[in-house]
Amino acid sequence: MESIPYDKRTGKIWFNGKAVEWSDANIHVLNHGLHYASCVFEGERVYDGEIFKLEEHTERLFYSASRMGIKVPYLQKEINEASKNIVNIQKVQNGYVRPLIWRGSEMMAISAQKNKIHVAIATWEWGSYFDPKLKSKGIRLNISSWRRPNPNSVPWDTKAAGLYMICTLSKHEAESKGFTDSLMLDHEGNIAEATGANIFFKNEIGELHTPTPDSFLDGITRREVIKIAKSKGIKVIERKIKPEELKKFVGCFLTGTAAEVTPVSEINEYKFKICNTITDLNDSYQTLVRKKTAA
Ligand code: PMP
Repeated sequence: MESIPYDKRTGKIWFNGKAVEWSDANIHVLNHGLHYASCVFEGERVYDGEIFKLEEHTERLFYSASRMGIKVPYLQKEINEASKNIVNIQKVQNGYVRPLIWRGSEMMAISAQKNKIHVAIATWEWGSYFDPKLKSKGIRLNISSWRRPNPNSVPWDTKAAGLYMICTLSKHEAESKGFTDSLMLDHEGNIAEATGANIFFKNEIGELHTPTPDSFLDGITRREVIKIAKSKGIKVIERKIKPEELKKFVGCFLTGTAAEVTPVSEINEYKFKICNTITDLNDSYQTLVRKKTAA
């Protein structure tokens, strides 16, 4: 099915304080966000009409903004309310929420001290990030020729738009070679993450090993899955992992708001099994996200 381009959809988008027509949520071509990546965003999922971990996502959105020197002209609780409202207005039951904050057009060079800060929140019905058929048998990753940057050169622990340039380059490279996604290494050659998700490995004694998030996003899903695994008595080890170790692992999966828990069947020549541990973690995550908080 041909999907409708995102700028041609209908309904409302929360835009600088009010719900405007989808087609009116526009910006000028000369804006700092577009030219200089003065933009931060979030990615949230709606399950049964409720945004999962909304407060955590909004907190991270504001943290990303502060790391970019952006002072958000709203309170976190106003963004939380606005997010819930727009989901209700759009009647999204199971979908995605995309809040974003960017610098406007008052100055158009490197310096942007006087630029107005804009905020928008869009939401739409949405299903699986990866093709569900691929998701059930495991996706195939290559190893990107691009690396996550040195943490001293970028606000690495944020969802700043500029960080995604490398992700799109990696994803396109992977897709052009027939892979679904790409595993990026960090600046020292350790395993880091996929283009929009964190990564976990299972070894033959049933432990989970996952890279220490010291130069890439410590995902909200990653943290939840670690909690779930520990509650099941599974040992989770966060450490530096070298690509040479891939041959020793028997299982692999990705975690992310969009990716949820997605098994990986191959990374280049290395093959992994979708074992009970991974299926079980996926089931528990699905139960958690749909659990309504007590009224
Ligand atoms: N890494 C990157 C680069 C991402 O874009 C995401 C998705 N936000 C993640 C990891 C996973 O983060 P989360 O679980 O908070 O969605």
